[in-house]
Amino acid sequence: MLNSLKLNTYRGRFAPSPSGSLHFGSLLAATASYLDAKAHQGDWLLRIEDLDAPRVQKGAISAILNVLECHGFKWNEEVLYQSQRLTAYQTITEQLLKRNKAYFCACSRKILQQNSPVGHYGFIYTGTCRQGIHASNPSHLRSVRVLSGSTPITFKDRLYGACKQNIAQAIGDFVIKRSDGVFAYQLAVVIDDYYQGITDIVRGYDLLDNTARQLYLQKLLNFPQPHYLHIPIAVDAQGNKLSKRNLAKALIGQHAFDNIYQALIFLGQNPPPQHNFSQLDDLWQWAIMHWNINTLPQQGSLLYESP
Ligand SMILES: [Zn+2]
Repeated sequence: MLNSLKLNTYRGRFAPSPSGSLHFGSLLAATASYLDAKAHQGDWLLRIEDLDAPRVQKGAISAILNVLECHGFKWNEEVLYQSQRLTAYQTITEQLLKRNKAYFCACSRKILQQNSPVGHYGFIYTGTCRQGIHASNPSHLRSVRVLSGSTPITFKDRLYGACKQNIAQAIGDFVIKRSDGVFAYQLAVVIDDYYQGITDIVRGYDLLDNTARQLYLQKLLNFPQPHYLHIPIAVDAQGNKLSKRNLAKALIGQHAFDNIYQALIFLGQNPPPQHNFSQLDDLWQWAIMHWNINTLPQQGSLLYESP
């Protein structure tokens, strides 16, 4: 009885990549996913997306766990590391190849440049290797692409409402395993969300246009479809997303209260004045009790000026 009840409960997650420290932009996704999970009396899981080994920064993982702890986040279950999930990704890649839902591609960047129109998301793959790699292609590099269906994918985001994407037109058959052997984010995230039993995904607006590909893979693999909530992302004065690349400031544990308070303001949660709270725990309690997605700002990005 307990088990079947458990299956129906909310399970959310936060999935940072350890290519650097957490910054205010990552804190927004962590905070929103945490509040949504806790407001639903759900579990909140942590997954470290360390797929791309060369991009993993030394010490970043322990720094991320530490700063999350300092900010009062409490995760359920063991942390899941994508670097330990390669066998699962490989098994599913092989299944898709065997079912003729995926195929090897030997197109170099140069061939892609010659053959592909450029769309909003980069080259639109026109299916050069769909019938097999051409004998004249000397490349030994092999990526794996999944056949993209021509039916548009539709879904309802909890904030942005009805969304639709025709993957074949916008992107074409997309890569699930890169030619350097690294599994693509799209594949890994779908397999892990299923593996962790995630029912609700709360993440940045910049990932909204990845959702159709993930739904498509879920369908292909017979996985249940989670609910999606994309929240606005923080941008700098030039309109660039706060990121490790543009040197967004690393979160500091000692500033946890101010950081969470700022995140709540950014997320449109209108917390009462700071002096109403004697400690971080009180602020969290207030935020969980008053979590309201109807007051989230609706624009995809919002200016963030660091105090
Ligand atoms: Zn190709």
